[in-house]
Amino acid sequence: MIGAGPAGLCAAIAARDMGARVTCVDSGDRPGGQLVKQTHKFFGSRAEFAGKRGIDIAGMLADRIRDDPMVEFMLDSTVIGFYDDGAIGIEHNDALTFLRGERIVCATGASERMLAFPGNDLPGVYGAGAVQTLMNVYGVRPGKAVLMVGAGNIGLIVSYQLLQAGVEVVAVVEAMPQVGGYDVHARKIQRVGVPILTSHTVKAVHGTRVVEGATVVALGSDFRPIPATEEYFHVDTVCLAVGLTPLADLLWQAGCKMAYVPELGGHVALRGEDYETSRRGIYVAGDLAGIEEASSAMIEGTIAGLSAAQSLGHEAPDFEERLATARAELAALRSGPKGQKVRLGIERLMRLGREVGVVA
Ligand SMILES: Cc1cc2nc3c(=O)[nH]c(=O)nc-3n(C[C@H](O)[C@H](O)[C@H](O)COP(=O)(O)OP(=O)(O)OC[C@H]3O[C@@H](n4cnc5c(N)ncnc54)[C@H](O)[C@@H]3O)c2cc1C
Repeated sequence: MIGAGPAGLCAAIAARDMGARVTCVDSGDRPGGQLVKQTHKFFGSRAEFAGKRGIDIAGMLADRIRDDPMVEFMLDSTVIGFYDDGAIGIEHNDALTFLRGERIVCATGASERMLAFPGNDLPGVYGAGAVQTLMNVYGVRPGKAVLMVGAGNIGLIVSYQLLQAGVEVVAVVEAMPQVGGYDVHARKIQRVGVPILTSHTVKAVHGTRVVEGATVVALGSDFRPIPATEEYFHVDTVCLAVGLTPLADLLWQAGCKMAYVPELGGHVALRGEDYETSRRGIYVAGDLAGIEEASSAMIEGTIAGLSAAQSLGHEAPDFEERLATARAELAALRSGPKGQKVRLGIERLMRLGREVGVVA
């Protein structure tokens, strides 16, 4: 497994359950991926731990395989490349080692999107993931007064966590005319007086050596700035929560056929229902396969892990039942209006996959 976030951990559990030997490689110092910085209680489905805190879910998943002799963890270890002979190169403690897996599940997650505006390189401009890491992993406040950019779930949740840490959130700006995240998260920060300015964006960040303030501007229905609507905020931190994009560098390097699917967050690998890519033996799961949530990442990991192990000849009496249950849970998670974007993305991905013969 490359990546031991929720997707990689669930793939490891599933493959181990089928009788496969598993190595989990992760650049972090502990398994869990994004979960280790998520102190809030999760939404999603009960089967995927809804109501539990992300950090606890990470521990519960890792505990299922931590002491298993069939599973090895290589932490603080970054996969830096795929080689033609099928080996992957792993950097650990400034040394390079090589590993050959008969099957590889790539679950490297996502990277944060940035925005282009004057001053975006000043110290004090952060991605929301970095702010969460500082606060929730290292106990460090990023600043005293924050402008949050983006009112999706991540922007709203991180705003609330900033408030809990005693940091002032001066405003949340959102380019769309409506809040993208769940109402429950928006109301929590509005109740304590944080304004959410929809149809607004950050125009520039000011400061000589560090962030000292930010100018926000209103946007018209064409998303162009409306002249003379600028407003200045005294802040020392600007936090960008403007979306994620699949971290697919390794897949490009491995020669997997890729497609740009905006509904899934960017370039993703063409893959079959079993999550195997066009490069035989390489599977994908989680945010790397399309930006969604931890719940879907876990289920995709389970499907990829079961399928990879089965393709090696491993068998389990409950294989078909587990696969069918996972597929049904995934369909349920993606049902309804909130799942429409992902459903459209997957339809597009499968259509493109059929055109080039990756999907039967
Ligand atoms: C603020 C915030 C709040 C969220 N809240 C929720 C929520 O309430 N409910 C929910 O369901 N989802 C939530 N999510 C989404 C959820 O965290 C992600 O969808 C999920 O973590 C994706 O899992 P993953 O395993 O695909 O990737 P990740 O969790 O990102 O794990 C990827 C792992 O791969 C490792 N890695 C990457 N590249 C390499 C490499 N080259 N070599 C070795 N290791 C590598 C990383 O270190 C990481 O550990 C939230 C996300 C954020 C940012």
